[in-house]
Amino acid sequence: MIYSFSSIDTYKQCPRKFYYSYIEKLPRKPSIHFERGKIMHNVIERFFESADSNMDLDDMKFLGRNLLIACWNKKKEELETLGVGNLDFYLEESKLMVDRWVEYFFNEMQSEVDAGYIRADAFERLRPQMEVNYKSDELELSGRIDSINEKDGEVEVVDFKTSKDADVGKYRLQIGIYALLYKMEHGKLPDKGALFFFKHGKKRVVVDEELVEDVKKELEEVKEKTKSVVREDYPKCVTSLCKWSTGQCDYFEKCFKNDREYAEEKRKG
Ligand code: SF4
Repeated sequence: MIYSFSSIDTYKQCPRKFYYSYIEKLPRKPSIHFERGKIMHNVIERFFESADSNMDLDDMKFLGRNLLIACWNKKKEELETLGVGNLDFYLEESKLMVDRWVEYFFNEMQSEVDAGYIRADAFERLRPQMEVNYKSDELELSGRIDSINEKDGEVEVVDFKTSKDADVGKYRLQIGIYALLYKMEHGKLPDKGALFFFKHGKKRVVVDEELVEDVKKELEEVKEKTKSVVREDYPKCVTSLCKWSTGQCDYFEKCFKNDREYAEEKRKG
């Protein structure tokens, strides 16, 4: 099996969920959060294809919003099948997220200009490599890095997040996996790591050998615990991740006969 942040994180959330998803390979339902995340990535990728370095902030925001609407409309039929009551709410929220990213990018560009670069060069210096895939057969590990920024010989790996909270600790492992994969491929660690939360801005993650060692340890632990293909070796973790106010785990019905059984098991802990 090739592991990833997603599979390791799934195991940590609930071993039984890992079993259904990665051993039985039962499909997972698409969600608005997952689909919206893909749209946001697409918008940024297209922004770098379409933006002009001479645009002012308003023009860049206008472009960002137009790209978002185009990507959204292209996926509209698919989004409508998700059963989300108020899709417009998510679209409006996404517009604000795009604005935030554009403002961040524009300010970064301005800093380059203030440092003496002409606008076209400033833009090129900030152009990232997007969606870069890495895989290590030796480690049985893969990952897709959202954005790799290289400037003045410094490399930064970045993951984009649409989540409500800017919980950096939750994603430290993910940046660590990317750093490790980058090192396997290029022979050195990236200099920096970051999470770009569309709702909160950019947050740094320290990339060092300690992080990479933590990742290796965590990966080995999960590999060891996921050798079995017997369902009972993957205990259920009955928490509010099974069911919440607006939804439930994709495998809720595989785990519980009904809500009462779930409540009972949750109470027992
Ligand atoms: S419903 Fe709960 S116990 Fe079952 S797989 Fe999902 S998270 Fe795990």
